Amino acid sequence: MGGKKELTRKVKQEANRLGFPLVGVTSPDPPDRLDSFQDWLSKGYHASMDWIAAERSLEKRSDPRAILPECKSILILGSPYPAPKGNLKGGNIASYALNQDYHEVLTEKLKCLVDFLEEKVGHPVPNRWYTDTGPILERELAMRAGLGWIGKNTTLINKEIGSYFFLAEILLGIELVTDPPITESFCGSCTRCLDTCPTGALREPYTLDANRCISYLTIEHKKEIPLDLRPLMGDWIYGCDICQIVCPWNKPGAEAQHILEELQPRTELLDVNLVADLDLSQEEFSNRFKGSPIKRAKRRGYLRNVAVVLGNLKDSAALPALVTALEDQEPLIRSHAAWALGEIGGGNIQELLTETLLGEENPRVKEEILRALDNLSKSNPAG
Ligand code: SF4
Ligand code: SF4
Repeated sequence: MGGKKELTRKVKQEANRLGFPLVGVTSPDPPDRLDSFQDWLSKGYHASMDWIAAERSLEKRSDPRAILPECKSILILGSPYPAPKGNLKGGNIASYALNQDYHEVLTEKLKCLVDFLEEKVGHPVPNRWYTDTGPILERELAMRAGLGWIGKNTTLINKEIGSYFFLAEILLGIELVTDPPITESFCGSCTRCLDTCPTGALREPYTLDANRCISYLTIEHKKEIPLDLRPLMGDWIYGCDICQIVCPWNKPGAEAQHILEELQPRTELLDVNLVADLDLSQEEFSNRFKGSPIKRAKRRGYLRNVAVVLGNLKDSAALPALVTALEDQEPLIRSHAAWALGEIGGGNIQELLTETLLGEENPRVKEEILRALDNLSKSNPAG
C-alpha cells in the first residue's frame, strides 16, 4: 500500500508540475449515470454528432475496460485556460479556442506523465489517453475522481478554479490510490445559465440539447444554421461562453495563475475583423488558423458563421463584403450571405439580390435569396 500511495503522490505532483493543477484518480468501473446518457441520446440531443451514438463507442463509454482491458485506474486531469475577457473586437470566439489547439498541447504533457510513471515503476505500463476526443464519459469520471461536479450548464465545475479548464484522462494498467468522489451538485437554487442561454439549449437543468447550442451550431454543425436560431447567435462566430460567464463559480482570476504558457490566447486571434474574414481564401484561412481549434469549423463553416454575425450586427459597412460572398464557390456561404443581406438591406441590395437570383443555380441558395428579398420587401415595401 505504501508503494502505491507514494507512487500516486509522485504522479500527482508531476501532473501539477506539467500544468494540471487538477488531478484525481478513479477506478475503471463503469460510470454511474449511464442511463441519463442513454436517455440524452434517445432524445436526439447529440444532434448530428453520430460518432457519440455509434455502438462501438457506446460499448467503450459504458466500460473503460472496453478501451483498455488491463485498466486498473484512471487519472483525470484538468488544465485551465483563460476566462473570457469580454467581447472581442468584431465577433466573439469562445475563450478555449483562442490559443494553440489544446489537443496538441495537452497530448504532449500526457505523454510526459506516462513516461514519468514508467520510469518510476521501472517497466512499461499499458495506457491510453484522451483529451476530450475519446469515447469516454469524462465528466462523470471526473466527478468520481473528485475534480468537481457537473453543473446545470453541463460543464464540470471545480470549487476553486471554476469551469474554464480542459479535461484529459489517462487509463492506466497499474493501480493508484483512488480519490473520494464528489456526489452532489453545488449549483443549489441557481438557474443563471438556464435563464441566460440565448437559444434555450439548456432544456432543463443538466440537459443540453446540442441542436440548439451555439457551440455546436458554429463548430460541429456542417449545414445551414436553422433560420430561427441565426438571430439568437448574436456575435458568436465560434463557440459560446455565455453559460459559463454567468456562472457564479467562475470567479475572476481564479484560473489565471495555473495557465500554461502555450494555452495563453494568440494575440492575432483576439483581433477579429469580420468583413476581412468573409473574404478569406482557403489558403488564407488555413494560414490564419494553423494550429488553432478554429480550423475544425473549416473555411465554409467559419465564413457561414461570420455571415450570420454580420447579419445580426446589421452594419451597412459589411454590405460590399457580403455581396462579394454571394459569388463564393461554396453554396453554404452564398446562402448565409444572402440571409445577412436580407437582414441589413439598404442601398441597391434588392436589385443586386434579384440579379444574383437569375444567375444562381443552387436551389438552397435560390430559396435563401427569395426569402431575403421577401424580408426586404416587408421591411421596405416602397423599395
Ligand atoms: Fe447556451 Fe451558449 Fe451555453 Fe450553448 S454554450 S448552452 S448556446 S449559453
Ligand atoms: Fe450551476 Fe448556476 Fe453555474 Fe448554472 S450558473 S452551472 S446553475 S452554479
